Amino acid sequence: MQIRILGTGSGMPNQELNNSCVLVQTDSRTFLWDAGEGCSRSLLDIQMPENELDAVLITHFHPDHISGILMLIQMLYLQGRKRELRLYLPERENEFRAMLQFFYIFPKRFDFDLQILPLSRVSEEFPEISICKNDHLLGYKDLIESHNLPNELRAFSLKLSSPQGDFVYSSDLQTTDSIADFARGAHTLLVDSGHPELQQIQKLRDYGIKRILLTHECRPETKKWLSENPDSRYQEAIQGHKYVI
Ligand SMILES: [Zn+2]
Repeated sequence: MQIRILGTGSGMPNQELNNSCVLVQTDSRTFLWDAGEGCSRSLLDIQMPENELDAVLITHFHPDHISGILMLIQMLYLQGRKRELRLYLPERENEFRAMLQFFYIFPKRFDFDLQILPLSRVSEEFPEISICKNDHLLGYKDLIESHNLPNELRAFSLKLSSPQGDFVYSSDLQTTDSIADFARGAHTLLVDSGHPELQQIQKLRDYGIKRILLTHECRPETKKWLSENPDSRYQEAIQGHKYVI
């Protein structure tokens, strides 16, 4: 399995970093996990053929994880993609379809079939992928309930299992506790180190994970702890770098 991290930025735009996006490839499949701003240009940089992607998975609807999706869809259309593309969303697929129309993106005109599906169904087609609902969006609960909004507070972490080892992508989290069982024993964990507190990142040492890649712009106290207490399991994720399991 090859894991190429296309965006290591956080929710704050950064001159050097793209927003969250990971290209995950096995011998037979190619997935894009999140589609933050910069994803289309990154795919052009690596000259990925237009028919290569099997599916795009979106973990939650924060802009830094979805902001590149319109340009990605438009690029694949203009490149003349022919193969069906599956786009898995965390919630509200019908409103997403309406939003495409709002932006004058009409899948009927594409040469490819764009299947928009709930992320909860991803393992029906791709049994090697599993998902875990995490605690990232729970802080909005009061606001959403008090205003009777349709947001479903659905944020997910993703796992790709393989005989060589599992890759887990936490996406954004409040706490690593919310994915403890899901991440335990993974070969490689790509983890949000911008939101969870240092103690939450330290806890990952006890989960039997071989490699912990810190992304989403590390908290300063986490960086300081790592520089003072080097641990070969922890590395800052490097944008553009390819990691192999
Ligand atoms: Zn984020």
